[in-house]
Amino acid sequence: MTESSVFTRILQGEIPAEIIAQTENAFAIRDIAPQAPVHFLVIPKTERYRDVVELADGDPALLAEVVGLARALADEHAGGEFRLVFNTGPGAGQTVFHVHAHVLAGQLEEKTLGA
Ligand code: 5GP
Repeated sequence: MTESSVFTRILQGEIPAEIIAQTENAFAIRDIAPQAPVHFLVIPKTERYRDVVELADGDPALLAEVVGLARALADEHAGGEFRLVFNTGPGAGQTVFHVHAHVLAGQLEEKTLGA
């Protein structure tokens, strides 16, 4: 049996993290190593999709739900303006292979932010 992802373990309460918002099929936490003044992760509750390409192919409605939750967080915490980053593949900086969106806001001009 494959080990659950770090995000599934957070969702199940095995690893401590505050779930700051959720919808039926997605949830959000603060990134443990923030790269911007506002840095949330929005994550489908299922770990079935490794990256955004798989998610878009397999469940576009769930991708839209992730984007909607990102927008709601940005409305609340960043005046509705934000950067949405899906690192896709190790060469692009992806380290957790349970698809997640980085929601970044605040003082973003200087850097190209991934994570
Ligand atoms: P990736 O590099 O795959 O695009 O993003 C994974 C993100 O998950 C990283 O920005 C990393 O800081 C974050 N992360 C990894 N482990 C944990 C954790 O246990 N708690 C939280 N809140 N974030 C984590």
